[in-house]
Amino acid sequence: MVSITVVATLICSASSAVAAAIGHQHQQHPQQQPLVAGVEPSNTLVAQPYAGHRIVRVPVGFGERTALESVLSSTRGIESILVWGTSHVDIQVDASVLPPSLLPPTAQTIVDNVQSLVDKEMDRLAVSQSRLLALGNDRFAPDNWFSEYHKYTDIVAWFKDLAAKHPDLVTFIPSIGKTYLKKDIIAIKLTSSVNKLTKPQFWFHSGDHAREWIGPATVQYFVHSLIADHASNPSLLDSAELIIVPLMNVDGYEHTWTGNRLWRKNRRPIKGDFFGSIGVDLNRNWPAHWGEGGSSNMPFSDTYMGPEAGSEPEVKALIEFFKNDNHTRLIGAIDLHSFSQLVLRPYGWTQKPAPDEPLLKKGGDGIRDAIKKASGKKYVSEREIDLYAASGTASDWFYDEEVQEWLPDRRLYAYTIELRPSADEVNGGEGFILPPEQIIPTGKEIYEAVKWYIEFAIDNVLWVKK
Ligand SMILES: [Zn+2]
Repeated sequence: MVSITVVATLICSASSAVAAAIGHQHQQHPQQQPLVAGVEPSNTLVAQPYAGHRIVRVPVGFGERTALESVLSSTRGIESILVWGTSHVDIQVDASVLPPSLLPPTAQTIVDNVQSLVDKEMDRLAVSQSRLLALGNDRFAPDNWFSEYHKYTDIVAWFKDLAAKHPDLVTFIPSIGKTYLKKDIIAIKLTSSVNKLTKPQFWFHSGDHAREWIGPATVQYFVHSLIADHASNPSLLDSAELIIVPLMNVDGYEHTWTGNRLWRKNRRPIKGDFFGSIGVDLNRNWPAHWGEGGSSNMPFSDTYMGPEAGSEPEVKALIEFFKNDNHTRLIGAIDLHSFSQLVLRPYGWTQKPAPDEPLLKKGGDGIRDAIKKASGKKYVSEREIDLYAASGTASDWFYDEEVQEWLPDRRLYAYTIELRPSADEVNGGEGFILPPEQIIPTGKEIYEAVKWYIEFAIDNVLWVKK
């Protein structure tokens, strides 16, 4: 195992070498462009954005994660931290900026050509998209729909179709706010007419990180399942209302469909940044102990926290919608990500235990167990800080001061779920590029977990004692 010092030294020296060659970078950096508000910079749509990129696995001890994370997220040439495994971290490296010779000797290349991984998926999508298109409205039938991932406009069409077919259960909200590129962020509400104005509410959102396609797909699957099962087993939608934002980062998600498949952040150009960097990490920008660790203040970083707490239009839109006067019966909130099969509970920003730690743990462990029972897949239930430090996250915001002030009599069962695959099962580096055959199995295990979670939270509301 390589020590943190070696990694840090090697990577930091690489960073300085790169800094010395800054003129060269300045010319070559694909994100360099004039800033025009609300306009997608055209030269970011490069034909082969991942040419020369590889995925490298670096062994790392558990206690070294947080320190290494801050080194990695501040080093040019480290394009992205892909995942933390039990004893390693997988990073995406642009070898033209940070050559393999500057990485620690223990670093092992697990994918030497990221571009070919992306190209293979795009080839498959081209075939399946035209097959689905030819089906017309039949493409919305579950067997067809869940056989593939879908573009933003198709996801919107699917939810609209669902609401039209089930007006008794689904309310389609065409826009809760606009993204930087003026795209509508949609939402749906899912419940039956029984006790409509008194039952507890649950929040779900996904797609904060553009490349995590399995998140929005899983949301679609469990929404579909709740509706399909309602006729035979109506209890859940009779006893709860689900408020759902299936795809938060619309701009980033659309960008992943044009070839920049591993894009994570939103698409807002960062004013005044020397490198012309684009994008803020939407799960490090929430006003919940923003900037207090586990995020970067470097705009080129994949975990860039943004210029201030809650600065991004997408985060603002979700907060405004969350704190809607009609949502005062919320008792739980979940943010779905991928990957690494985790159920993370507050806090991410501090070692201090949450006031409701015993029940939050019980809830997280129960979600883990419901998944295991459904599919046999092992998810790990833990506090986010025990995985790595992260501040300005949605799930800490759900649980922490701002929502507490708004709903003073309770706290929410707040979780981040990281979906398939596990960090140790990554097959050929697929990670975010999860085969579509995994959509239904992932959806099924999360559907079971969602049902368990809703019943558990209703029976164990986190009332704040006065
Ligand atoms: Zn994520």
